[in-house]
Amino acid sequence: MDNRYDLGDYASNRRTTSETPRSSDHNTNRNTNRRPYNRRKQPKSKAPVVFMLILLIAACILAVTTFTFASKYSKSEQERQAQSQSVEEYKQKATEMEKKYNEEKKNADEWKKKYDNLVAVRNGDKKVAYLTFDDGPSENTLKIIDILKKYDIKATFFVIGSSNVEYMKNIVDSGNQIALHSYSHDYSEIYRSADAYMKDLKKIHDLVKEKTGRDCKAIRFPGGASNTISAEYCKGIMSVLTEKVHDKGYEYYDWDCDSTDASGTNVEPAKLVAGVNNTSHGKLVTVLMHDTKAKSTTVEALPQIIETLKAKGYDFDTLDNCPRPCHHSVNN
Ligand SMILES: [Zn+2]
Repeated sequence: MDNRYDLGDYASNRRTTSETPRSSDHNTNRNTNRRPYNRRKQPKSKAPVVFMLILLIAACILAVTTFTFASKYSKSEQERQAQSQSVEEYKQKATEMEKKYNEEKKNADEWKKKYDNLVAVRNGDKKVAYLTFDDGPSENTLKIIDILKKYDIKATFFVIGSSNVEYMKNIVDSGNQIALHSYSHDYSEIYRSADAYMKDLKKIHDLVKEKTGRDCKAIRFPGGASNTISAEYCKGIMSVLTEKVHDKGYEYYDWDCDSTDASGTNVEPAKLVAGVNNTSHGKLVTVLMHDTKAKSTTVEALPQIIETLKAKGYDFDTLDNCPRPCHHSVNN
């Protein structure tokens, strides 16, 4: 190893580091002593690094703050949307419930009105006429229904197994009451025995059920409970039947006001009106009329019959709302 060489280097090094070279020296050095490992780097200022660090930290803080704020904003926006949605749901629910409440109230009001009406009828505070039509349906059934509709009143039809059974549905659909009279309406057949009567009653019951879906329990005996014609076929049968039908869950309705339309065919309308007027007394009246092809004058008289009863202070209703069914005295 050449020591001189090492010393020279050392001396040369010392000079370059400890002395500030003149410009000529500097040039000389640049040209003659350019050895990178001999040059000690000038200490650089730390300011840019610190500045960069501060900038980085500031950026981080800004990023964290922005992220926190954004997530908070997003969360509160979601909450706001959720609240707004639930408010909308509550509003919708409230509207639905209000609608339901109004419907229920309307129903309750109607039932209350019906109840008050029945109580008033029961207490004798109201006069009610129960219009009844026997022996239908017939070619006149729809005409009768139209007249009742015009006066906005309801009546009761005691039907038989007639040739116009298709109108049974019209009776029910129009809000009038359908009730049972007889299938055959043949006295010699139905009053032959209690069993014969009950068989006939079941037949008309089933026919009405088939045509209208109604399970009728309101009945009227042909000729009424007071009829004596039945005695020609079976002694004492009406006494038996009036008990028996109650046992079977039926109720029978006679009449206490007679239009007299059964007294003949084409009885003058004025006579029918007079018949009703002369026999309508008391708080509750059950009016007997007929619904057959031969009783066209009953249809003609009906508006006047209704007007007459209205003028006497009667309201109108169906027998299923009658608190005291009219019963004749039994004579057989
Ligand atoms: Zn009859």
